[in-house]
Amino acid sequence: MTCDLALKAIPLYFYGELTPSEEERVEQHMHECETCSRELERQRALGPALDRRRIEPSAGSLLRASPRSRLSSRPRRG
Ligand SMILES: [Zn+2]
Repeated sequence: MTCDLALKAIPLYFYGELTPSEEERVEQHMHECETCSRELERQRALGPALDRRRIEPSAGSLLRASPRSRLSSRPRRG
């Protein structure tokens, strides 16, 4: 498998749209080729992150927890 084919196959690999024998060839190429295995890791990191965004609201809720409410919680006198 050439790098060009391997790179094109990476998205299909994640979507499970390759045949078992194609998957095998992609995996084999990833073992042999650092460039393509890095691209595979990059897409592996990106792909699930997009899906997980719906499940884990971590980053968003941290931003929203800014201490703005302190302004209105001053004790009143007189
Ligand atoms: Zn390659």
